[in-house]
Amino acid sequence: MKLVKAENQIEFLCSEKIESIHAFSTRVGGVSELTHTASLNLAFGRGDERETVLKNLSIFASAVGFDAEKLVSVHQIHSADVRVVDNSHAGQGYIIKEDFECDGYVTNTSGLAVGVKTADCVPILMEGYGESGDVCCVGAAHAGWRGTVSGIAVKCLEKMRTLGTVRVRIAIGPAICGKCFEVRADFYDAVSEILGAELTEKYVLHDDKKTGVWHTDLRRMNKDFLVSAGVDERDIDISEDCTCCLPERYFSHRYSGGKRGTQLSVIVMP
Ligand SMILES: [Zn+2]
Repeated sequence: MKLVKAENQIEFLCSEKIESIHAFSTRVGGVSELTHTASLNLAFGRGDERETVLKNLSIFASAVGFDAEKLVSVHQIHSADVRVVDNSHAGQGYIIKEDFECDGYVTNTSGLAVGVKTADCVPILMEGYGESGDVCCVGAAHAGWRGTVSGIAVKCLEKMRTLGTVRVRIAIGPAICGKCFEVRADFYDAVSEILGAELTEKYVLHDDKKTGVWHTDLRRMNKDFLVSAGVDERDIDISEDCTCCLPERYFSHRYSGGKRGTQLSVIVMP
């Protein structure tokens, strides 16, 4: 993935694998002035005034090249719910109040943008190609650990297939790395309840040095699940950036102890 430095000072990541307009935001270049939201916080409820967040959205949208009024990005609930959205949902979550909650979107409405908000969780952007070889739909998913183990990435892919996708290209954005994502026994048990013992042992690994501590790499899990669902590994691009290892560049829930701003990852249907 490449880091783009826009004229208006903001910085975001793009994947060379994806043709449609898309971006993973960083915390660089916005107008938030609080220490913990400085400076491109893209979520309400983190301490910034509403106008500040909307100004950041406007700055981000103009640098990336999408219409903020056409963005759908609603309240997220760590579910595996994926919605197909269209113009009737345009603006929901930022410009107008949403009438639903979910963690994933698919759309085939031209000009509509779908986005997910993260600060350690995994943002996944997808581009679906139809039989004709053109983009037939795009998708976005917010995969925290709960969404990841519940299979939100594959659910998003399945919805895209119902809209004619025969090949998909995927970009997995900045998220917490396996080393930083330290978890305890209760996490192991919770994952085990959903995934079963075998997969949990594969993905939730004992810390070599600390007893009662495990680590898990959520990006790897999402990638593996997508490959198991039939995606060609070569069509998946994964950012190397860890939100927790790079606190100057990203907001990280873990690094900040929860006092932080939020990134937004967006993809636009051509
Ligand atoms: Zn890290």
